Amino acid sequence: MSKETRRLTADPRLIVRGSGIHGRGIFAAIALPGRRKLGEVTGKRVRLPEARQAVVRQPRIYLVELTRRYALDCSTGNDFRHLNHSCRPNCYLRVSHGRVEVYSKEAIAAGSELTVDYGATPHEGGMTCRCGAARCKEVL
Ligand SMILES: [Zn+2]
Repeated sequence: MSKETRRLTADPRLIVRGSGIHGRGIFAAIALPGRRKLGEVTGKRVRLPEARQAVVRQPRIYLVELTRRYALDCSTGNDFRHLNHSCRPNCYLRVSHGRVEVYSKEAIAAGSELTVDYGATPHEGGMTCRCGAARCKEVL
């Protein structure tokens, strides 16, 4: 393990390290089964649409919309804030009772980066995608 690598807090199955997609990402330390809950994204509940306005010019998104009125600001949350976007993700987020849960969509090989589809972003002019998927949308 390089010093860039570290375990996700409290979960030995997941590792945070540099990502080819963006900044740091979350990687599977071991093979993970599909359709399983991997954890929960934590953060601070913030009001929409003010919060959406605030992230328009930020290089990275830390907002997960919970309802029309509220979102979870993950910037101060746990390591799942490093989950990167892919146009062909192997994970997805499920919002349930104000909580944001992370599930695997499919079996994930050890060493693979965990990704989710962010969907549309509030960024001006969109956000360039470098996920490398065959059908990459390129701009979110
Ligand atoms: Zn992409």
